Amino acid sequence: MKIALDMDEVIASFYGGFLKFCEDKYGIVHKYEDTLKYELHNYIPDSRAKVEEFMSSEESVDLIKPIPGAIESIKLIHEKGHDQIIVTSRPQRIEDLTKQWLDQYLPFLADKVYFTTHFDNLGTKTKRDYCLQFERDLLIDDHIKYIRECIGVVRRLMLMDCPYNKDESLHETVTRVYNWNHILSELCLHEPSRP
Ligand SMILES: [Mg+2]
Repeated sequence: MKIALDMDEVIASFYGGFLKFCEDKYGIVHKYEDTLKYELHNYIPDSRAKVEEFMSSEESVDLIKPIPGAIESIKLIHEKGHDQIIVTSRPQRIEDLTKQWLDQYLPFLADKVYFTTHFDNLGTKTKRDYCLQFERDLLIDDHIKYIRECIGVVRRLMLMDCPYNKDESLHETVTRVYNWNHILSELCLHEPSRP
């Protein structure tokens, strides 16, 4: 199977790290569970500048923790011989910090990460373009926009359940997944439990 993985909120808890940064540095308290809209400017004043500051800082590598189960599951999928790449809408200018994070947790994916440059407005390639180019069978993403743009391109789509996508209605090719255990079950990749 050829899989495209989104990075933030699928592998890495960007929101968790960023909200901790906002609390520590600016005293702004906002709970992830209350993030009912994807765009952070609804909750954090001047969010774009703060995201820039956070993502350009070395501390982001430590503050961004893995999503529970992601690292073990992605390693298992890798060991089973499936081909995985990361397709992220992070700006390319934070490529080094992104690879530093991956080197720490998933070194075999550090040179398999592709940037859509969505936030740079450079518009070179979309997630749909990368899924076509690398002939992906499955995309796992938390953003309904990217899931929708890949309908018809990727045979199977999984939307990672998050507070801001709970109300989205899903196309028949899209499965809402609640955690990495659920993803492994959907892929029939659970290790048999030992007696
Ligand atoms: Mg994401």
